[in-house]
Parts: sequence; structure tokens; C-alpha cells
Amino acid sequence: MLTETPTIATEARGIVEPTLTDRPAEALDSPVRRSLYNTVLQQFNAAADSMRLDAGVRKILARPKNEIVVNFPVRMDDGHIEMFVGYRVQHNDALGPFKGGLRYHPHVEIDEVRALAAWMTWKCAVVGVPFGGAKGGIQIDPSDYSRAEIEHITRRFVFALGDNIGPEYDIPAPDVNTNAQIMAWILDTYLSTRPAHERQCNIHVVTGKPIAAGGSEGRDKATGQGVAFIVDEWAKDNMVDLSQMTFMVQGFGNVGSWAARLLVQRGARLIAVEDVTGAVRNDSGIDPEDLLTYVRRSGSLDAYPKAEVITHREFFGTKADLFVPAAMENQITATTAPWLKVRLVVEAANGPTDAEGDRLLRQNGVELLPDILCNSGGVIVSYFEWLQNKRNEAWDLEEVDRRLRRMITNAYRSVRRTEKESNVDPRTAAYLVALKRLERLYMERGIFP
Ligand code: NAD
Repeated sequence: MLTETPTIATEARGIVEPTLTDRPAEALDSPVRRSLYNTVLQQFNAAADSMRLDAGVRKILARPKNEIVVNFPVRMDDGHIEMFVGYRVQHNDALGPFKGGLRYHPHVEIDEVRALAAWMTWKCAVVGVPFGGAKGGIQIDPSDYSRAEIEHITRRFVFALGDNIGPEYDIPAPDVNTNAQIMAWILDTYLSTRPAHERQCNIHVVTGKPIAAGGSEGRDKATGQGVAFIVDEWAKDNMVDLSQMTFMVQGFGNVGSWAARLLVQRGARLIAVEDVTGAVRNDSGIDPEDLLTYVRRSGSLDAYPKAEVITHREFFGTKADLFVPAAMENQITATTAPWLKVRLVVEAANGPTDAEGDRLLRQNGVELLPDILCNSGGVIVSYFEWLQNKRNEAWDLEEVDRRLRRMITNAYRSVRRTEKESNVDPRTAAYLVALKRLERLYMERGIFP
């Protein structure tokens, strides 16, 4: 018989006992496989040490609250059955419902999802969005499946998750290789499992939906827009004119292509782009709209005729003012950090820099603005979408952008202030802002019983 098989439940909601403990981060290092969650713990421990985070709160935040693993079957177009594994890690919900994207990628596994979920907790806390942190995904290469198969995989995953997601409990959103269409299928599947009279009051179960399905204006570009607002603030602080700046972008999907377009609108010159298919450079400037049209048509950028094809090494060695990593984690490492010839790294992806990469950038005098601040535009506008759904409202783009700018700029300012007051680097400062908020809450609420 074919059934969903949630793995080992330790609580009512189908939860896997976390395998990570609050052991020192170093103990988790494996010579075989680098743990992304280890990177999170290293960043977390540095900030926790610096602020002398309460020992109890430190233990709570060092491990995720719930981990859900579901194995589920789907009938493929040719009639055969395939089994899939899907994850949802709910890191923390002290500040509000769990919130975080769903990723479809062959590398999705529990350690990666656990790390991404923790980053969501810090991100929501640093910008003051009343959400906790979660992340999920399915271990697939979407290019191996038809559109109909992706729809069926998505719907069956949502069915398998059951009440582990919900509009006031855990709210998914888009991430790598997922988009508004996939969010619409999630919405439809979730609502289809509710009694008819409950459907309309549940449309905030997922954000990043198409506008017609209850999505928000500005959500598609929100993460890139947030990156652009952060760069605006950095430019003001450093008294630089963005129209004199050059930049390079790694990843030309949702976040990278929007960040590129919005920075070019500000007059900056895009001179190099890399995606999973290759890299291109043109020192006279690349038109991101034209490149996007090309990538959408051809499926890759490596043969783009209006720029020179370069290697990964040459991409990283490009001399530019700004680098916007907007692809995957662990891209700026002991190997690649020394190649970078940029003034500022604006982390648009989650976890693009590992601990050694971080150290080398600092040593080489490259400034870095951290992911939990820079890519928070996505979750901020997801929060706006959630609010609009709850209130039966539809804000126009101007309103969304105005509120996003205010919220992300305030977060940028408090990170900058903390950096000076505590004499720490910007990543640690962002963690301090987030952890102080969480610590205050735990101290006030106490621990049950
Ligand atoms: P996407 O699927 O739209 O695009 C991913 C891009 O990265 C593609 O261009 C792909 O070709 C490229 N890529 C993948 N592997 C690569 C590699 N090894 N080298 C170079 N390029 C590679 O995904 P996205 O939504 O734009 O997300 C990008 C990053 O931003 C991820 O780290 C994601 O977690 C983060 N993020 C996304 C959002 C959002 O709203 N979508 C919000 C916050 C953070």
C-alpha cells in the first residue's frame, strides 16, 4: 500500500529528534562533509559570546524546534511511481509563526534545511518582522520533471505535510527553483483539504502567491528590492555615487536578476554575471533586461552573444566595486575569497560566505553586509502579503515599496549602530540585534512550566 511516511515522531506533529546538540561548533566539523549548520553555529556562537547571551536562551536557540521529514509517492507522466523526500525544519517560533521558503534542489537535505531555517529566525528578528524561522524543500532537480509532474510533487508534498503548515502556524514561501505558480498550487492543495467554510480565511497559509491568488504587489522583486535599498544606504554612508560603481552578480534567478535590474536603474554598471551554466563579462556593461530575455529563451547564459564567456575563476577575479552573491551557499570560501577584487560584498543569497571566507574578506579589507540583513526584503514583503490577506486588503506597489524601504533601512541603521557600539563586524552586529530581541522575549516570557 502506498502511504505518506513521516519519519519518527517525538511530538504530535511528526517531529524528528534533532541530531545536533549545543556541543561546540568545532565538534560538528566533519572532514567528509562540511555542515552548513556548522556555519550557522559558528556565526551564532561568535555573537552569543560577544553579547554574553543568557546560557539558557543560548541552548534553546542552538537547535531547531521541530524537524519534519516526509517520504511520499507521486505518479509520473508515464504512469510509474516515484518516491520523494521532503523536509520542513521549524527552527523557532518565539517571535511569531514559523516562516520560510521551500527549495527544490538536488542538494536539499536536512543539514542544509536546518541551517536555512535558523537563518530565517535571525532574519525575522533582525528586521523586526513578527515571524519565527523555518525552511523546507524537496530533494529534486526540477529540470528532470515536466510541469505536470512538478505540480503533482508539490501537491503531494503539501498533503504529506498536513497540519505541519498553516496560516497562523507555519507559512511557506518561494526559494531556489520555486516560484509564484508553485505557491498557488500549495495554496490550492491546502485549501482543498479544509472544510469549505474555512477556505477564505486560510489564504495566508503561503506567501509569494500570484497576485490573482492573493499575492502582494512587489513580492516578486522584494528580495532584490531590499538589496537595492541596502546598497542605497551604504552608498549614502560612504558618500559614493552609484552611477560611478561597477558590480557583478552570481545567480541570475529571482533575487540576482531583480537586484541587477534595480542597481542598473540606479546607474550602476553590471559587468559580470555567473549562473549555474557559466559566466560572462563585459566591462562596458551588460543590460540585465536583455540578458534576462536571453536566459529565459535559451535556458542558460553561457553563450550570451553580447559578453565574453569567462571561467568561474575569472568571474571571481573580476575587478568591480560590488559583488552580489545571489545563488547558493558556500560560494565565498578559502579558495575564492582571495580572488575577489571588490570593495563590498552584499550577501543576497543565504549563507554565500563560509567562516574562512568571512575571515579572509576581513583580512583583505573587503567590506561585507550580511545575508540576514540584505536579503530580508523577501520576508518583509511576505509579511505584508500575510497582513493584507488577513485584513482583506490590497496595497499598491508604491505602498509596499515605501513600507519595505522604511523597515529595511531601520534594520540597516540598527545594525550599523550596533557595529559601532559593540565594536564588531557587520555580521556579528546583525546577530546581536536579532539575539537581543529574542533574549529579551525569552526573559520576559520565561520557560514553561
Ligand atoms: P532562483 O532559483 O530563482 O535562482 C537561483 C540562481 O542561482 C539561478 O540563476 C541559478 O542558475 C544560480 N545558481 C545555482 N547554483 C549555482 C552555482 N553553483 N553557481 C552559480 N550560480 C548558481 O533562486 P532565488 O530565489 O533567486 O534564490 C537565490 C538565493 O537567494 C538563495 O540563496 C535563496 O535562499 C536566497 N533568497 C531568496 C529569496 C526569495 O525571495 N526568492 C529570499 C531570501 C533569500
